[in-house]
This record gives sequence, structure tokens and C-alpha cells, in this order.
Amino acid sequence: MARQREGVCRLCRRERMKLYLKGMRCYTDRCAIERRNFPPGQHGQSRRTKMTAYGTQLREKQKVKRTYGLLERQFRNYFEKAEKANGPTGENLIITLERRLDNVVFRMGLGSSRAQARQLVSHGHVKVNGRKVNVPSYQVAVGEEIVLTDKMRENAMILQARDVSQSQAIAPWLDIDRENHRAKVVSLPKREDVQTPPITEQLIVELYSK
Ligand code: SF4
Repeated sequence: MARQREGVCRLCRRERMKLYLKGMRCYTDRCAIERRNFPPGQHGQSRRTKMTAYGTQLREKQKVKRTYGLLERQFRNYFEKAEKANGPTGENLIITLERRLDNVVFRMGLGSSRAQARQLVSHGHVKVNGRKVNVPSYQVAVGEEIVLTDKMRENAMILQARDVSQSQAIAPWLDIDRENHRAKVVSLPKREDVQTPPITEQLIVELYSK
């Protein structure tokens, strides 16, 4: 996971929504959003200033960047590629982020956070079409099959993640077999398939178009 300097719960509190950055804790009442859903800092509870248009755009970008665990430069690269691709830039951006292998592993429920899913990939515990792929940014393609290596199948952390992930939104573009820790990419994700977190990608396009 790209290194975040701030405590991750502070990041969720700043966006005032669960970004699921901390694993199992996110699914319990110890989640900071459940207990203190206001921005961090001395004036977090009292500050009432109206956000500027720039502030709103910036917050949206930060939310998406943090959700997928990316640093600014990486996120910017994704945006630039999305701009060059055919179709609406915002949509291209979200779809490309969603196709990252670490995100797919998270959607499969093999990790309770994207950080955990990314670790599984980078430690070589995930295979794509029978071959180990240890690159978290790998873009999955239609027809590919993603599976956990045999060695990790009984891992307690993974079994626990699988159980809590049942409550997560389904990714309709993946045919997920949770019991056997595998998934098949049946189609590329469409924009409407990505509902969590809620994203207004146009704000990010406006921010970077300044
Ligand atoms: Fe912390 Fe997870 Fe709750 Fe976010 S969702 S505040 S990372 S426990």
C-alpha cells in the first residue's frame, strides 16, 4: 500500500465516510466513523465554514486516491491515461482503478482492506490464469481467473476477511466463488458497477483541468 503518513482513521473522518482502510476494525463498532463522525483536529467538531468549489473537488480526489491506496503521483498518472483513452475521463479513471488486481482481490473478499489485499498480491499469494502475479497494479482482463494459492487457503486472516466481506457490495463484473477463493472476470466493470464509495468523478476532472 502506498505509505500514508496520517493515521488511516483520520483519513476516513476527514471524508466523513468509511473508506475501509484498516481491515477488520472497519466492520466493528470500534470504527472511528461509528464513534466520531466529524473531521479530526481541535476544531473538527465546531468548524462550520462553507466549502469552496476547489475544496469540494480536492476532497473528492483525496477520497478516491485514499480509497485505492495511491500516492498523488500514481493517481495523477492514472488520470492522465484516462484522459488519453476513449470515452469520458472520469469514467475511464474509475474503471481503471477498479481493474487493479489488488482491488479485485479486495472485492473477492480475500482481504478485509485493500492494503491487506495488496500485501497478498505483492507476497505472491495470488495467481492469474494459473501464473503468480505479484504486481498490485496489474489490470485484469475479461476471461481471466484469479485465485488464491493453495498455501493460503486455510489462513485465519483470510477466512475472517471472507466472512466479513459477505456484507460488502457485490461486483457484478466478477463471478466470485468465495468458498474456493477464486473469481472470473466476466466483463469489464461499468461505471454503475462501482457504488462504494460514492464518487462524483466529474469533480476530479474539474480539479485537474484547472
Ligand atoms: Fe478506521 Fe476503517 Fe473506520 Fe475508516 S472504516 S475509520 S479505517 S476503522
